[in-house]
Amino acid sequence: MKLLLFDLDQTLINTGGAGLRALDRACLHLFGISNAMQGISPHGKTDPAIAREILRVRFDKHTPESNGEIRLILDAYLSFLKEEVEASAKYRVLPGITSILDEMSARKDVALGLATGNLETGARIKLDRGRMNRYFAFGGFGSDSEDRTELVRKAAEKAAAQYGKTIPASDIFVIGDTPLDIDAGKRAGFQTVGVATGSYSMEQLLDSGANVAIPDFDQGRDYFLRSTFVA
Ligand SMILES: [Mg+2]
Repeated sequence: MKLLLFDLDQTLINTGGAGLRALDRACLHLFGISNAMQGISPHGKTDPAIAREILRVRFDKHTPESNGEIRLILDAYLSFLKEEVEASAKYRVLPGITSILDEMSARKDVALGLATGNLETGARIKLDRGRMNRYFAFGGFGSDSEDRTELVRKAAEKAAAQYGKTIPASDIFVIGDTPLDIDAGKRAGFQTVGVATGSYSMEQLLDSGANVAIPDFDQGRDYFLRSTFVA
């Protein structure tokens, strides 16, 4: 059995900035500061790590005592997220994704999971609009760990629990749009696939150590299937 672990933002979907706007609203609501995310890149980071960065950049806080504030930010973020996702004019499911997930979910020898820095509640809200939760029974999330490598490992553990067997590391593929996805997959000991639908080119993803890189799941479909299954 092969296990495919997908990142969410810029890999499966693009929310059109809904997540950023929800974080900005959370910080405005809690602290009265506008544009809290300005200058902070969320790409490839876990939600708790992003909240920690907001506190560090905006308030010069980096002590463990800020964990309560991280929780506050994330709770407020979740409270605004659904509305932002629903209202987002540029929300879209990325090219070729639905087709490949339809095909993969019909196969008995393939398991699908998530490996995303989103809190699970946030991930489910983001996927719901694209009707994509049906493909993913389990995953590793930012709510499992602030550390991306740990949440990738967690996703593989949940797959093992779900299927009643451990899947060999050589049959586990971590798929994402940033070098941080690739790095986490490699640190966990798994195979990695870069998809250039975010801010990074195929070349940059390969340079960061990805075993394989594709432009997107439409143009890169056949190469992706050959690289992950048949090879
Ligand atoms: Mg991503």
